[in-house]
Amino acid sequence: MIKKLLNPQTCEKCKLCCVFDIYDIWNTPIFSENMKNKIISFSPQSKFIRKDGGYIFKAENTDSYGNFKCPALSEKGCILGDDKPFICRIFPYMIMELNGMKVITAASVCSEFYNRPLSQLVDFLKDGLADEIFSHADAYPEIIRPYNENYPILLIHN
Ligand code: SF4
Repeated sequence: MIKKLLNPQTCEKCKLCCVFDIYDIWNTPIFSENMKNKIISFSPQSKFIRKDGGYIFKAENTDSYGNFKCPALSEKGCILGDDKPFICRIFPYMIMELNGMKVITAASVCSEFYNRPLSQLVDFLKDGLADEIFSHADAYPEIIRPYNENYPILLIHN
């Protein structure tokens, strides 16, 4: 979804957005039944917890840095491909709620994205992606995260 903005090769090498620590564990993706079953076929030891009509992975195994890796992450990237959860497809853009308003924010964890001019990030949103994000959030409000002040706001839904 944002392949036109971010170089896929950079994402392939990085994979940082698929690894979580105790500070961003709240932001793990919600999987559908199909996605969960695909992940279990790939990684049978994965465990899941029901959440918001779907599933989140049970974060119990950390690496030596104390990080939790998404069980859908393989050496080559996400095994779900283009069928990955919506929040993964739009990341590092995020949809949040602030005082009853939907806002699109930027995650700083991706330096490739975060170091772009603000105008470029906003223009890319205005080119159709923002409408898609807001209408998806209307249909699936569980993807909306509470606003976090560490995430700069790029666009407000009006
Ligand atoms: S579902 Fe795929 S893209 Fe999303 S966090 Fe897991 S590995 Fe990364």
